[in-house]
Amino acid sequence: MTEETQRINPWQMVLAQIDKAARYLSCDPGMIEKLRYPERSLQVSVPVRLDNGTIKIFKGFRVQHSTVRGPAKGGVRYHPSVDLDEVTALAAWMTWKCAVMNIPFGGAKGGVECDPEQLSPGELERLTRRYTAEIMSFIGPDRDIPAPDVNTNAQVMAWMMDTYSMQMGHTVPGVVTGKPIAIGGSEGRSDATGLGVVFMVIEAAQKLGMRLDGATAVVQGFGNVGSSAARSLFREGVKVIAISDRTGGLYCAAGINPFELQRHFLQNGTIAEFPGCERITNDELLALECDILVPAALENVIHRENAGQVRAKIVAEGANGPVTPIADEILGEKGVFVIPDILANAGGVTVSYFEWVQDLQNYFWNEAEINNRLRQIMVSAFKKVIAIAEENRVDNRTAAQMLGIGKVAEALQLRGLYP
Ligand code: NAD
Repeated sequence: MTEETQRINPWQMVLAQIDKAARYLSCDPGMIEKLRYPERSLQVSVPVRLDNGTIKIFKGFRVQHSTVRGPAKGGVRYHPSVDLDEVTALAAWMTWKCAVMNIPFGGAKGGVECDPEQLSPGELERLTRRYTAEIMSFIGPDRDIPAPDVNTNAQVMAWMMDTYSMQMGHTVPGVVTGKPIAIGGSEGRSDATGLGVVFMVIEAAQKLGMRLDGATAVVQGFGNVGSSAARSLFREGVKVIAISDRTGGLYCAAGINPFELQRHFLQNGTIAEFPGCERITNDELLALECDILVPAALENVIHRENAGQVRAKIVAEGANGPVTPIADEILGEKGVFVIPDILANAGGVTVSYFEWVQDLQNYFWNEAEINNRLRQIMVSAFKKVIAIAEENRVDNRTAAQMLGIGKVAEALQLRGLYP
């Protein structure tokens, strides 16, 4: 990791982005100032009895950045680098993202500082249940609705829902989204973020006059977002020439079949040694010549030192905050069409919204209905963002932030300050 990426604090990135967007907005500066502070931050200790009989204490967080447009919404991350600033930044991005999609949620995020690779399934379940118990008074279907993020999945959401429901004395499916379908999850949720990324790539390609059939793509991260984005790109006829995960990357000029790679991953627990591919590093992957680059792992992976080497025409941000502010400027100067995170990866929260609506109504929709509604909402948001970018001659990220921050500031202005 370079000096710049170590120094970049995601919350400082959020503050800089608010300042930039605010220059173009005509709302009360006091309302903008309010958005520079999260509404509530909770830090908890999560004691877990490990399989060897000892007790280990983990640090947990839940931050609600804004509930002005509706209940707070956002994922839960398990990772060694989780800290309060990262969680707060991710919560603010959720606030803008929900506003850009025009879905009636505010923004939140949670996390536990831990390395899930070092935990057994039993330890992971105990950690999840105790973390849920510690944030119990913060969350609820009308207050704050967690969902999966890095290293958390449908099973973790099932444990969270069960812990909350046991405390309430009745089943409360709407307390989390991204649950298994058998307990109130939604069709289409597991693929929604990656599919949404590709809906946005289709719009961007149309705008740039690029044919997707035969275009080339590179995907960083082969988890929930990266793997489903790779599969959806493949279905559009895009040649996915490189894919990576935390252990490194795979390159194949003829294209990788992500469905076969998924099978290989499930059998072997790693993408390494997938036949017919060359091993490359994550740095080499980001510098490959391609039409579409999808960073779908973690923050700050495209930074001052490597942004100049990016040779993609479109960067579709599957991950949150993958491009640092300086890298953003460099990509802008190179004419790269960036689809910013709060637009590109908003498919997950949009189908989470559908899941929540279905849970509250106890009435479930089919996958075709879900994907059609998802596409409509995302395409409409894309058009609004591009119109703002063109009208104000700003980059797509600033335009998306203007749309999101502007909507939240408007809601704040209308509600006024209490008391
Ligand atoms: P995940 O845990 O399912 O997958 C993460 C992937 O990134 C794994 O393949 C992992 O090996 C890889 N990875 C980790 N560190 C890496 C590194 N240094 N270099 C390359 N690869 C690395 O997580 P996810 O849910 O797919 O989330 C990925 C990103 O997408 C995060 O930024 C998350 O906030 C964002 N996101 C997720 C969702 C969702 O619905 N899950 C929605 C919106 C945004």
